[in-house]
Amino acid sequence: MNYRSYSLANFEHIPQVRNYLSKDDIDAVKIIGSVLPFKINNYLVNELIDWDNFRNDPIYHLTFPQYGMLSGEDYILMQQAIARGANSTQLAEVASNIRKRLNPHPGEQLTLNVPVVDGSIIKGMQHKYDQTVLFFPSHGQTCHAYCTFCFRWPQFVGDTELKFASREVSTLLSYVRSHPKVTDILFTGGDPMIMSARMLMAYLEPIIEADLPNLSTIRIGTKVLGYWPYRFLTDTDADELLRFFDRIAARNINLALMAHVNHPKELQHPAAQKAIRRVLNTGVQIRTQSPILNHINKSAETWRDMWNLQVKLGCIPYYMFIARDTGAQDYFSVTLEESSYIFNEAYRQVSGLGRTVRGPSMSVDTGKIEVMGVTEIKGEKVFQLRLIQCRNAAFVGKIFYAKYNPDAIWFSDLEPAFGETGFFFEDKKELLNL
Ligand code: SF4
Repeated sequence: MNYRSYSLANFEHIPQVRNYLSKDDIDAVKIIGSVLPFKINNYLVNELIDWDNFRNDPIYHLTFPQYGMLSGEDYILMQQAIARGANSTQLAEVASNIRKRLNPHPGEQLTLNVPVVDGSIIKGMQHKYDQTVLFFPSHGQTCHAYCTFCFRWPQFVGDTELKFASREVSTLLSYVRSHPKVTDILFTGGDPMIMSARMLMAYLEPIIEADLPNLSTIRIGTKVLGYWPYRFLTDTDADELLRFFDRIAARNINLALMAHVNHPKELQHPAAQKAIRRVLNTGVQIRTQSPILNHINKSAETWRDMWNLQVKLGCIPYYMFIARDTGAQDYFSVTLEESSYIFNEAYRQVSGLGRTVRGPSMSVDTGKIEVMGVTEIKGEKVFQLRLIQCRNAAFVGKIFYAKYNPDAIWFSDLEPAFGETGFFFEDKKELLNL
């Protein structure tokens, strides 16, 4: 299949858009899509979205901007700007002002996790946890389509100030060499699997050839199985790519695709299943992750079915996340209480092989906080929480408690339980490099 993408400029040419969407739906795409990124492709449009039931279709919500993804005031601001015929500079200014209100840097990624060597910032890398360095290859900073919930949305709206990107594999190598605790390099984006086989090899070959004694795993964060499985099937360099995966496995480096899968529908398609088989045959692992999202996967049955299907196909369920505090968070948010309930309900209904999954987890500046559930201790109803990743490994595994708040959707909505004045890590900022 040949890849064809659509954006704000040409989405009205899609026959299904003309046949099914109302004028209000189309206006909403134009208004929201002027603020948040929008890109979709022919596979999603023709093969995954059920247009006869598109308002309830998870893939439609996952990819098409729609009413509710901006606050009412911001929606009207952009709507009015478009209606009065604002020129592109004026529209960009309205969009830029709205974006600033959408918390474009959750977890303070721009400043907190950027490695500094000899007083200089290393661009295009992040190092938050001892074992794992994130690398943002500059040629992999876009995707086959954009997810409406994406917390990396600022990277796709042309604001270079908000972009992480690096061409510097040599800097990455020296950094990993001089940090012996690092065992994993995570290629992330965007979607690094947007790159041609040749380009991906240009980044990965030097890492493999460097024979770093501390490096055990290269991870690639990707949505390609859900958005363009033909990457491993009919793209002109699909076979070359898979042969390269074979070569990596032969060098005793564990290569893992960290696959974003938000709904079982993405893996039910025969092309996705065939792509998974081809990838697994090379010895590459596939681990799966997704946030829990209103309108897309907010039910225990959906998660149970998703984990079961993943295990059946040979993938390893890895994370359920909480939708981050950025972009269209309000549209997708599920309360912490309900997220934890859904996780536990689904977890109970899968076999031990599906229970490799962790969560629901919030990625905050301190680390990853798992919402274990709601319980009662000494007469007080509380959230039981656990740090499952932390900027300081000494705190990993630590359980702590927050006052019960039925409306909480993010960590900032929580307060310490039992009359304490702060969470245990809040007076340990030096230990956390905060
Ligand atoms: S594929 Fe990943 S990086 Fe790209 S828009 Fe979706 S969540 Fe964001």
